[in-house]
Amino acid sequence: MAKKSKRVRMHPTKGGNPRKAVCVHCREIVGIVQLGDHDTVWRDPENARNQWIGRMTDAKRAFKGREPVRLRIIEDDEVIPAGVCDNCERKAGRQLELMEKGGLLFSCKMCHGSGVLPPSPETFQARLEMGIPAPEPAKLEFSDGCPLCAGGKESTDE
Ligand SMILES: [Zn+2]
Ligand SMILES: [Zn+2]
Repeated sequence: MAKKSKRVRMHPTKGGNPRKAVCVHCREIVGIVQLGDHDTVWRDPENARNQWIGRMTDAKRAFKGREPVRLRIIEDDEVIPAGVCDNCERKAGRQLELMEKGGLLFSCKMCHGSGVLPPSPETFQARLEMGIPAPEPAKLEFSDGCPLCAGGKESTDE
Protein backbone atom coordinates (compact mmCIF):
# COMPACT_ATOMS: atom_id res chain seq x y z
CA MET A 1 0.00 0.00 0.00
CA ALA A 2 2.78 2.49 0.87
CA LYS A 3 4.92 2.93 -2.24
CA LYS A 4 8.07 4.27 -0.58
CA SER A 5 7.99 1.93 2.38
CA LYS A 6 11.13 0.80 4.17
CA ARG A 7 9.49 -2.54 4.96
CA VAL A 8 9.47 -3.92 8.46
CA ARG A 9 12.36 -6.31 8.99
CA MET A 10 11.71 -9.89 10.10
CA HIS A 11 12.28 -10.56 13.78
CA PRO A 12 15.38 -12.78 14.25
CA THR A 13 13.40 -15.49 16.10
CA LYS A 14 9.75 -14.51 15.69
CA GLY A 15 9.67 -13.85 11.94
CA GLY A 16 6.75 -11.65 10.93
CA ASN A 17 5.89 -11.40 14.64
CA PRO A 18 2.14 -10.92 14.09
CA ARG A 19 -0.25 -9.44 16.65
CA LYS A 20 -3.99 -9.09 16.68
CA ALA A 21 -5.07 -5.54 15.86
CA VAL A 22 -8.03 -4.25 17.85
CA CYS A 23 -10.38 -1.29 17.50
CA VAL A 24 -8.97 1.74 19.32
CA HIS A 25 -12.43 2.45 20.74
CA CYS A 26 -14.01 -0.87 21.71
CA ARG A 27 -11.10 -3.36 21.32
CA GLU A 28 -12.94 -5.58 18.89
CA ILE A 29 -10.45 -7.51 16.72
CA VAL A 30 -10.11 -5.87 13.31
CA GLY A 31 -7.13 -7.68 11.75
CA ILE A 32 -3.46 -8.54 12.08
CA VAL A 33 -0.31 -6.40 12.03
CA GLN A 34 3.19 -7.75 11.34
CA LEU A 35 5.59 -6.11 13.77
CA GLY A 36 8.72 -7.93 12.60
CA ASP A 37 11.61 -6.66 14.73
CA HIS A 38 9.73 -3.41 15.45
CA ASP A 39 8.31 -4.71 18.72
CA THR A 40 9.83 -2.25 21.19
CA VAL A 41 7.70 0.43 22.86
CA TRP A 42 9.45 3.80 23.28
CA ARG A 43 8.35 6.79 25.34
CA ASP A 44 8.90 10.49 24.78
CA PRO A 45 11.10 11.71 27.71
CA GLU A 46 8.98 14.86 27.92
CA ASN A 47 5.53 13.32 27.59
CA ALA A 48 4.76 9.86 28.96
CA ARG A 49 1.60 9.62 26.89
CA ASN A 50 3.56 10.04 23.69
CA GLN A 51 4.63 6.52 22.74
CA TRP A 52 5.90 4.87 19.60
CA ILE A 53 6.16 1.22 18.61
CA GLY A 54 9.09 0.40 16.35
CA ARG A 55 12.69 1.41 15.81
CA MET A 56 14.57 3.77 18.11
CA THR A 57 15.56 6.03 15.22
CA ASP A 58 11.91 6.40 14.16
CA ALA A 59 10.89 7.02 17.78
CA LYS A 60 13.51 9.76 18.05
CA ARG A 61 12.15 11.41 14.92
CA ALA A 62 8.60 11.06 16.22
CA PHE A 63 9.68 12.76 19.45
CA LYS A 64 11.26 15.69 17.54
CA GLY A 65 14.83 14.58 18.29
CA ARG A 66 14.38 13.88 21.99
CA GLU A 67 16.17 10.71 23.13
CA PRO A 68 13.54 7.91 23.37
CA VAL A 69 13.16 6.00 26.64
CA ARG A 70 12.88 2.23 26.12
CA LEU A 71 9.71 1.13 27.88
CA ARG A 72 9.29 -2.56 27.07
CA ILE A 73 8.92 -5.25 24.41
CA ILE A 74 5.38 -5.95 23.26
CA GLU A 75 4.17 -9.24 24.75
CA ASP A 76 3.57 -12.24 22.49
CA ASP A 77 -0.13 -12.29 23.37
CA GLU A 78 -0.59 -8.53 23.43
CA VAL A 79 -3.10 -6.86 21.13
CA ILE A 80 -2.31 -3.61 19.30
CA PRO A 81 -4.81 -0.75 19.09
CA ALA A 82 -4.53 -0.26 15.35
CA GLY A 83 -7.87 0.28 13.72
CA VAL A 84 -11.50 1.20 14.01
CA CYS A 85 -14.24 -1.40 13.67
CA ASP A 86 -17.22 -0.82 11.38
CA ASN A 87 -19.51 0.05 14.30
CA CYS A 88 -17.19 2.69 15.72
CA GLU A 89 -16.32 4.04 12.28
CA ARG A 90 -19.99 4.82 11.75
CA LYS A 91 -20.04 6.75 15.03
CA ALA A 92 -16.73 8.62 14.62
CA GLY A 93 -16.56 10.02 11.11
CA ARG A 94 -14.42 13.11 11.61
CA GLN A 95 -11.23 13.24 9.54
CA LEU A 96 -9.05 14.77 12.24
CA GLU A 97 -10.14 12.20 14.77
CA LEU A 98 -9.53 9.40 12.29
CA MET A 99 -6.04 10.78 11.63
CA GLU A 100 -5.18 11.07 15.31
CA LYS A 101 -6.23 7.48 15.86
CA GLY A 102 -3.87 6.28 13.12
CA GLY A 103 -5.62 7.01 9.84
CA LEU A 104 -3.79 8.29 6.77
CA LEU A 105 -4.34 11.08 4.31
CA PHE A 106 -4.21 9.91 0.75
CA SER A 107 -4.13 11.37 -2.69
CA CYS A 108 -4.31 9.64 -6.04
CA LYS A 109 -2.24 10.28 -9.16
CA MET A 110 -4.87 8.69 -11.35
CA CYS A 111 -8.13 10.42 -10.33
CA HIS A 112 -6.54 13.34 -8.41
CA GLY A 113 -8.88 12.57 -5.56
CA SER A 114 -7.94 12.76 -1.90
CA GLY A 115 -9.33 11.89 1.50
CA VAL A 116 -8.61 10.04 4.70
CA LEU A 117 -8.23 6.32 5.15
CA PRO A 118 -9.74 5.42 8.53
CA PRO A 119 -7.42 3.64 10.98
CA SER A 120 -6.95 -0.01 10.12
CA PRO A 121 -4.26 -2.67 10.43
CA GLU A 122 -3.14 -1.56 6.94
CA THR A 123 -2.74 2.12 7.89
CA PHE A 124 -0.96 1.07 11.10
CA GLN A 125 1.39 -1.08 9.02
CA ALA A 126 1.97 1.74 6.53
CA ARG A 127 2.77 4.19 9.35
CA LEU A 128 5.12 1.64 10.91
CA GLU A 129 6.92 1.31 7.57
CA MET A 130 7.05 5.08 7.02
CA GLY A 131 8.18 5.69 10.60
CA ILE A 132 5.39 8.22 11.20
CA PRO A 133 3.28 7.52 14.29
CA ALA A 134 -0.20 8.82 14.97
CA PRO A 135 -1.27 11.52 15.63
CA GLU A 136 1.27 13.03 13.21
CA PRO A 137 -0.19 13.58 9.74
CA ALA A 138 1.01 11.04 7.22
CA LYS A 139 0.12 10.76 3.58
CA LEU A 140 0.02 8.00 1.04
CA GLU A 141 0.09 8.64 -2.69
CA PHE A 142 -1.65 6.03 -4.76
CA SER A 143 -0.80 5.29 -8.35
CA ASP A 144 -2.98 2.20 -8.16
CA GLY A 145 -5.21 0.70 -5.52
CA CYS A 146 -6.87 4.04 -4.77
CA PRO A 147 -10.17 3.55 -2.88
CA LEU A 148 -11.83 6.30 -4.91
CA CYS A 149 -10.84 4.74 -8.23
CA ALA A 150 -12.06 1.44 -6.85
CA GLY A 151 -15.34 3.09 -5.84
CA GLY A 152 -14.73 2.09 -2.23
CA LYS A 153 -16.33 3.49 0.91
CA GLU A 154 -13.10 4.63 2.62
CA SER A 155 -13.13 8.24 1.48
CA THR A 156 -14.32 10.76 4.03
CA ASP A 157 -13.35 13.76 1.88
CA GLU A 158 -16.39 15.99 2.19
ZN1 LIG B 1 -15.00 -0.47 17.74
ZN1 LIG C 1 -8.00 7.39 -7.63
